[in-house]
Amino acid sequence: MKSGKDQSLMRYHPWVFSGAIKKTKGHFQEGDVVRVYNNKDEFLGLGHYQPGTIAVRVFSFTDQAVDEAYWRRKISRALDLRKRLGLWYQNHTNVFRLVNAEGDGMPGLIIDYYNGTAVMQAHSVGMYRLLRPLVDILQEVLGERLEAVYNKSAASLPHKAEVERDEGYLWGQASQDKVSENGLSFRVNWEEGQKTGFYVDQRDNRQLVRNYARNADVLNLFGYTGGFSVYAAAGGCKSVVSVDSSKKATELADQNMKLNFDESLNHAATARDAFEYLRESDDRFDLMILDPPAFAKHYNVLPNAIQGYKKLNRLAIQKIRSGGILFTFSCSQVMSRENFRKMAFTASANTGRKVRILGQMNQPPDHPVNIYHPEGEYLKGLILQVI
Ligand code: SAH
Repeated sequence: MKSGKDQSLMRYHPWVFSGAIKKTKGHFQEGDVVRVYNNKDEFLGLGHYQPGTIAVRVFSFTDQAVDEAYWRRKISRALDLRKRLGLWYQNHTNVFRLVNAEGDGMPGLIIDYYNGTAVMQAHSVGMYRLLRPLVDILQEVLGERLEAVYNKSAASLPHKAEVERDEGYLWGQASQDKVSENGLSFRVNWEEGQKTGFYVDQRDNRQLVRNYARNADVLNLFGYTGGFSVYAAAGGCKSVVSVDSSKKATELADQNMKLNFDESLNHAATARDAFEYLRESDDRFDLMILDPPAFAKHYNVLPNAIQGYKKLNRLAIQKIRSGGILFTFSCSQVMSRENFRKMAFTASANTGRKVRILGQMNQPPDHPVNIYHPEGEYLKGLILQVI
């Protein structure tokens, strides 16, 4: 690395940017394990090479053999945390994130566990090549609680990666697609669904919605497969509407409601644009959830994204019934907590209504954030009351 460009790596930030590289030695291709040295030829780390802005994703800061035993230790450690969090032994929750990339010392790799099926998603060619060896390791570490391993990487690999983008079962066959989360049931479609099939990261926040839902008329915008709606119903809401632009998602939202409650439940799922729905709706809702997709994935579009969040939140604050509660989120990595709060401040001020903060939300502990890699902290939310 160039002199002076090694500072962040010395502090265990796991990314080597291409512009920080002084020279390379030997022949290597995308996905290979490479060693990183500073300008004085001192060892800094071991990582996967990937042509692009982030040239190396470092997974080890000590020089050691990177063999099967090495990855087994990493996966075992990841499972140990989930055991400590109580996620492994519970009957009422059998869906969680087993590996959260940098947060678990495995940059470029996501593994979500769905009641027997591990869904793996590689974001680098280095991790993609490891998927097959990881199948054996998962079998060993998870034992009889593993019945299938699915590879969901076609869309997550870098656009320019020169690899065959296969997807599908790497081992076994799932006998079911039903999972339990906090005692509620959901069908998860990892083959066709978004991300690995389910937004595992909203588990704790969905549980909070349950506590605020009694007797409420609920509007769940960007509802995907109805996660927040099912919790609102479990919390005793009067009615709930799930809105998502994807018809497949709203169909699954309907199914998920039926899976948990009988027909008397007042639920409507509609495939609409959330902004449009909100603009046309009246003021009958007293609990709203705004969980949009990341409006910005890069800093260069952050100002536009902030405008998008502002517009959405302003509309919701305008429309919500007096005393109503708003759960508002951003899963955009480039939107800082501070910017999100400022956005909520401006949106509130634009409506002239009185608004107070009742709570602040995060990603759950099975989505750990490496303190040296703050980019890993992406999910943030506020619970607002509009008076
Ligand atoms: N709250 C969900 C996850 C939401 S992900 C859960 O807990 O499971 C964001 C969702 O927004 C996606 O399902 C996507 O289909 C939907 N979406 C994106 N743009 C939209 C728009 N303009 N209007 C409505 N839904 C939209």
